[in-house]
Amino acid sequence: MHQPPAQDNREIPRKINAVRHVYVLHCVGGSATRCAVSSLEQVKAAVVDVSHKLAQREWVANHDGNVSFRLPEGRFVATPSGVHKADVDHMMLVIVDIDGKVLEGSRKLFSEWELHRALYEARPDVMAVVHAHPPYATACGVAGVSLAQPVMVEPVVSLGDGIISVPFFAPRSEEGLVLLADAATRADAWLLENHGALSVGPTLEHAYLRMELVEHQAKIQTIARTLGGIRPLSHDVIVPLLEARSKAGLTAPRETATPSADLRETIARLVAAELRLT
Ligand SMILES: [Zn+2]
Repeated sequence: MHQPPAQDNREIPRKINAVRHVYVLHCVGGSATRCAVSSLEQVKAAVVDVSHKLAQREWVANHDGNVSFRLPEGRFVATPSGVHKADVDHMMLVIVDIDGKVLEGSRKLFSEWELHRALYEARPDVMAVVHAHPPYATACGVAGVSLAQPVMVEPVVSLGDGIISVPFFAPRSEEGLVLLADAATRADAWLLENHGALSVGPTLEHAYLRMELVEHQAKIQTIARTLGGIRPLSHDVIVPLLEARSKAGLTAPRETATPSADLRETIARLVAAELRLT
């Protein structure tokens, strides 16, 4: 199984990006000197490559899914609206500001930019966002099946103490974006109920691999349920794994925090609204 390199340090991309027009696509080990730095053209090529992989892996259909990468000076490279991810090429990519205004490129930005914006604003360390509808993860989100209980060792180190589910919210819902912004500080990958999955990283490679790990866990747990059910890891096993995660610098900024009272009220309102609809 691919996993983000255990020794990557969240501070590295910020240091590298202090150098204008130099971008980080991959980091190996804990040293900035071992990060591969890239030109804007190479960044665009990597965004196209991830777009194609989303299609090859069948994690998207129609015009689903989107990919973005943070550039210096408040700009972002993003995939365009209305194109199948298998057909995206570098000429179609757009460069936008945080409000989603297209600064370069002739295409329109995808309509789910607010999801990416919420993550970038909540997490200054995040350099890339990947959104897709991978079938097993999305099916868990549709069925209300939680992936919050860790069942294997490696994903605890890579993703933390289970995968957070963000309650369903309608596109551009202010309350939904508040929920996502809160969840953003407590993890690096999320299930969006009745929608799909989101992942972020200090590099585009991390964001892609985290999406892969979410889908792989969802697939394994779905198969395990058909075989008689899942057997979660015990607390005694999880604690040292989380310590290893922390030592490796992989912990999200507020990973151990619980939702605030305001947030619990927001969740209660969303749940009440959904109950009225059904
Ligand atoms: Zn979506």
